[in-house]
Amino acid sequence: MIDGYYIVDCQVHSIRSHDGKATIDEMCRSAVAHGVDEIGFTEHKDFDPDDPVVNYFDYEKYMHDIVLARMHWGSHLKIKAGVEIDYQVWFEDKISNYLEKHPFDFVMGSVHYVNRVKIMAPEYNRSRIARLAYHDYFVAVRDSVVSGMFDVVGHLEYANRLGIAAWGPYHSAEHKRELCTLFDHMIEEGIVLEINTAGLFHNTGNSYPCLDTVELYASRGGDSVIMGSDAHVPEQVGFRALDAIDIAQRAGINNLATFTKRQKTLVPIHRSAALLRKSH
Ligand SMILES: [Zn+2]
Repeated sequence: MIDGYYIVDCQVHSIRSHDGKATIDEMCRSAVAHGVDEIGFTEHKDFDPDDPVVNYFDYEKYMHDIVLARMHWGSHLKIKAGVEIDYQVWFEDKISNYLEKHPFDFVMGSVHYVNRVKIMAPEYNRSRIARLAYHDYFVAVRDSVVSGMFDVVGHLEYANRLGIAAWGPYHSAEHKRELCTLFDHMIEEGIVLEINTAGLFHNTGNSYPCLDTVELYASRGGDSVIMGSDAHVPEQVGFRALDAIDIAQRAGINNLATFTKRQKTLVPIHRSAALLRKSH
């Protein structure tokens, strides 16, 4: 708790992800040191057979680490066992079968590839005009939502990380139609938006998604968010958490979503909001 704010970091990677640098225990230690109340691990789970790390994630070892971390840190920190699934439409059956057999607290769906091309590869923007580069990405995110497999949309607008370098400044308003369609599906399905602060240290200087987009989500009826740093090293846990809170509140969102065994509950971002609600 910092100044009455419930601090969550629900996008954290440990060495149970191919690109994580520290253990789950070390990431929890850092969370406690940074005043985080709730940490959500979102280890990468990929399904693309062309991806060299497709078989890296080990569910049993992950859950074992989570149990130990809860024993060690449970009195200071809520620890959620999530997963970040790389969504590609071709692998929907594989993803769905996997999720049936492997329970998590929450499942984040993230788009890193569009039509089999990595959006972090220069080729992605080179093979498209600007309008299509974003349009195709938003269609893929919409497909992930419509699949009904996910609880959270991870790092929305991540396509602008290279998109801005390729096409210049990003304006959410130019994509309003795609975003409204996406948010309407999310709200209908009860799927929550993540405010991911990693972009605040990327070249874009914006969260994923940016404030304008979070405002649009709220205007369509989005009433809660989760927040994540995308930490891959301990020092990044809780990175700019108060900025994420500020973005949510400026957009008029006062609740965080928190998940246990895929059941969503809402927690007030600020303790005073909870007190206010009780007095009414
Ligand atoms: Zn991701």
